Amino acid sequence: MGYANALYYAQKDPFKDFTTSPEIGQVFGELLGAWSAFVWQLMSAPPRVALVEAGPGRGTLLQDALRTIQRVAPDFARAIDVHLIETSPRLRAEQATRVADATWHDDLACVPPGPSIFLANEFLDALPIRQFVRKADGWAERHVLRGGFVEIPSAGPKREALPGSVIEVSEAAENWVSGLARRLAAEGGAALIVDYGSENRVGDSFQALRAGKPADPLVDPGSADLTAHVDFAALGRAAASAGAIVWGPITQGLFLRRLGLWERTAALEAANPGRHMQLRDSAWRLASPDMMGELFKVMCITQPDFPVPPGFGQ
Ligand code: SAH
Repeated sequence: MGYANALYYAQKDPFKDFTTSPEIGQVFGELLGAWSAFVWQLMSAPPRVALVEAGPGRGTLLQDALRTIQRVAPDFARAIDVHLIETSPRLRAEQATRVADATWHDDLACVPPGPSIFLANEFLDALPIRQFVRKADGWAERHVLRGGFVEIPSAGPKREALPGSVIEVSEAAENWVSGLARRLAAEGGAALIVDYGSENRVGDSFQALRAGKPADPLVDPGSADLTAHVDFAALGRAAASAGAIVWGPITQGLFLRRLGLWERTAALEAANPGRHMQLRDSAWRLASPDMMGELFKVMCITQPDFPVPPGFGQ
């Protein structure tokens, strides 16, 4: 999965296969920009701060976030150094057209030390998973052999499940989050992770999309986007045991409403009457329970001794 996705992101235009929240409406990036500005104040406004995005796609989220930050929090704008974690040379070039003065890195470990604010939308779902199948007499793991799936007896995950259930584990995502949490605990800061998934879920969520349609993941590796739901409970445990504090997850709909989704949408409508329907439609797609409002979750990870981050209070 990891190898196929590295090929896929290096060669293809993923946005022909799927769309994401920042591509649906400018309000998403704007609200995350405002969130970051508030968090910087809660961090006691360090004079230099890294604003880091993992897996920035086309760069739209940060473009919208930085425009808002320049307008509502000029002091924060002056303090920011932008860092992007992106392995695809193709997408790096596209990000450079929307985000000025950024520094690119292949990996979290390359981002220079210091206080930081991290944003990651639909990044962790692209990292590889393992699938375990509960049999009557123990566990098996799904492997790929000669173009097909085979099940090989295994010690299994550290969880119980009914026979027939599939449990997915992403060591790559858990390790990434532990590295992030260790960094935040040592250097200070906060991270916002947005993705689809839930806590302690059971079931096969492995999915391939080619030309926007479900496809066979084993045909022509690198031609389809491979993803799986994110296990927020596992990520929360990884972050907590690395010494950080975990907030949420809460649903994307609730988070965006608490940050002022509808107020900002109304202001944009007043300023752009011609785009009224489109702005309403975007906000509705981002927050409605039957669209992205409930399947997508938002989790925040902070340094210890941090006040309640915006959106996570009662
Ligand atoms: N956040 C964007 C794009 C999501 S697509 C949006 O919301 O629109 C996933 C992004 O993660 C792409 O930019 C892809 O190139 C990047 N990516 C995937 N696997 C990665 C890895 N292992 N390391 C760094 N970036 C990765």
